[in-house]
Parts: sequence; structure tokens; C-alpha cells
Amino acid sequence: MADSLHAPDVSSATVRSRMPAIRRMTLLRVQVPLKKPVKHASHERTASENLVVRIELDDGTTGYGEGVPRTYVTGESIGSTFRALERSDWPRSIGRPGSFAEVVAKLEGLSLAEIDGDSRGMGGNAARCALELAVLDAYGRYFQTSIGEAVRLAKVEGLERHARPRAVRYSAAITAESRRKEIVSAVKFRIYGFRDVKAKVGVAGQDDPRRLETLRRILGRRMDIRIDANEAWRADVLIERVAPLLRFRPSLLEQPVPHAQVDALAELRLRLGVPVMLDESLCGWPDGVAAIERKTADYFNVRLSKCGGLLPSLRLIGLARRNGLGVQLGCHPGETAILSAAGRHVAGRVAGIRYLEGSYDRHILKANLTAADLTFGYGGRARPIDGHGLGIEVDPALLAAMTTETKVIDYA
Ligand SMILES: [Mg+2]
Repeated sequence: MADSLHAPDVSSATVRSRMPAIRRMTLLRVQVPLKKPVKHASHERTASENLVVRIELDDGTTGYGEGVPRTYVTGESIGSTFRALERSDWPRSIGRPGSFAEVVAKLEGLSLAEIDGDSRGMGGNAARCALELAVLDAYGRYFQTSIGEAVRLAKVEGLERHARPRAVRYSAAITAESRRKEIVSAVKFRIYGFRDVKAKVGVAGQDDPRRLETLRRILGRRMDIRIDANEAWRADVLIERVAPLLRFRPSLLEQPVPHAQVDALAELRLRLGVPVMLDESLCGWPDGVAAIERKTADYFNVRLSKCGGLLPSLRLIGLARRNGLGVQLGCHPGETAILSAAGRHVAGRVAGIRYLEGSYDRHILKANLTAADLTFGYGGRARPIDGHGLGIEVDPALLAAMTTETKVIDYA
């Protein structure tokens, strides 16, 4: 007779009852101080107001997630993310998952009323991102696995994945400052061996042809230089704005027109002389589908917070790749180590990401949430992050120092 018949009866129901559920969700409004104002064509800020979500399981395991709500991107504010998450019953409905794969499967069904009720599927994306990452971090720690495993486990058609996380290379960014500062930045980027650089264009009062001429001269013939207009130009003047920039050989042009005019790109894209990447017009799943159907893009700029978290971002990347489009994994200026770590896990596991932005931590933030520094190294190079969950340790004192509002929700 087999020994197993004499083993104590550990039915799956018994095991399941010992698995932890979510006991508490804490929402934190966080003011992240920036080293210098972040400027682009439409906005300027000196601090980044972020949402941090802390999830506590009933065995005491905790996890952190982050979202960067921006009214001019997904229409969200910190207030709206608080309301969306307070209202959601999702943390209760996850129950007692029996494996990390089950956590990922449950998260694949996670949405918020604010996302479902929005024609662009984005009205709760930063909130969803923060909750999802916190749940993945907490259960990753509990099941002793990296949140990178969620990339492997996600059911996404057309997504090529690396079996093991790889080292990655981030882009440098030139943000339309004074001429002297731009020259200093460009010299540094060349010396430090970056492979690609993004330059902001379309800022009022800036002479973009002159700037790009200088950047191309300093950065050299072989540097990949792409440009981001942050919706600066109207569709009816787009061709004439872009024409004088083409001789400096930008590799692509990001979000040239306001979202309201994005459909004009279907026709303009073919005459521009440079591939087009959508950013502000690529937030929720309906945006991705519209871009494919209307042929308005050559590239998607997928950002975790903007696109609703890790799993929705993977779905957009899969959509792009299945349809032959290129992908950038981007970031929001002001992201802390939480989103830097999440981006690193995705970037190291997903094949075919053409451009990568993020992990600017030390360069942009005056203070961060972890003692360990995730900023990329020489030439934008960065290694995979080891450990369970996000693989970082949020310092409660550093978090408390930035927190301006807290809301605790207990699940009995
Ligand atoms: Mg952009």
C-alpha cells in the first residue's frame, strides 16, 4: 500500500485556509521632492505627488506599490485614486490565493469602476498600478518569488519573454533647459557612453533646429537621438514644424500633436519622414486598439502607471508586437524606487523593448523611499534586481517623511 495513503489528510482546502488574505490596505499621498523643476511643453513641477499603496497580509507580510496620477495624462488626481481604491472591493475578493500563479491570474481580472466606465480605459490606471504592484510585492515575498515571475506567468499573446532576467540599458534625456545646461548634459551623455538620448522639443521660446544641430554635433553621428513634443504642435502645422529637424536624423518623434488630433496622424505619419510614437494618446487598452486600427503609430510608449500596471502594460506591449509596432517602456519623472524597480523587472524579462526610460532616481529626486539606490550606471546600464517581490526595502522613516495624507482600510 502506498505511503501516501497513511499520510495525514492535508486536503487543498486545509492548505488554503492557512494561506494569507489581505488584512489591510494603506493609501499614502506622497510628496517626492525633485532636484529641479520638471519642464515640458505643457507643464512644470518642483515636487512629484505620488500615490503609494501598502498592502498587509494577515501573516504580517507587507508589499508596496506606486502610481503617478496626472490629470493631464489619465485624468487622475491623488484624490481620485484614493476614492477609487477605497471603493474597490478587490482586495477582499482575492481571497487566499494558493500560489503566486494564482495571484497573477486574479490580478489579470483586476479592474476598477473608473477604468471600466471610461471610453479610453484609463480613469483609474495609476490607482490600479499602485494596488497591483503592492499585491504582487506582498505575495511575491510570501511565496518567495520575484515579481518578475509575473511577467513569465502573464497570459499575453505575442509577448516574447526571456527565461531569465537580463541586464538592460536606459536612455538619457535632455529636457529643454538653458543652452549651456543642455550642452553640459550632452557632453556628459557622450562621455558616459549612452546609446540613445531623448530630447524634448516644442517648448515655447526654444529654437529646436539650433538645439538639435548642437546635440547632434556633440553626441556624434552614431548616437540614436529621438524627440518628444509632448502634444506641442497642431496637426495643420506639423509637417512644417518637423521638416527643419529631419536633417539631424531623429530616430522617432513622440506624441507630436494633442490627443484630440491624434487621428490626423494616420495620414500625416506617412508624410512626416520620421516614425511616430504615441504617449499621451496611449493610456488604456482602447487607445492601443484605436492606434492599430487607425494606423496612427509606429511605436507605443508604454508606462506602467499610465497604462494601469504591469499586466495591462504587458497586454499593450503584446498588442504592439503582434502588429509589428516598436515599443518603449517609459516612466514618469518623479517615480520613486518602487516604480523604478517594477520597470526594471519588466524591462529585464520582456524581449523586443526598443527604448527604455526610468531608474533616473538619484538624478531627479532629492529623496527616495529606499536606502539602496536603483539609479542606472555607466552608459545607462543596469542589472536585474534579485530578491522576493520587488526586491527592494522601502524604509518606513523615509516614507513617513514624504507622506502628507494617509488612509487605512481594514478587511475583516
Ligand atoms: Mg512623452
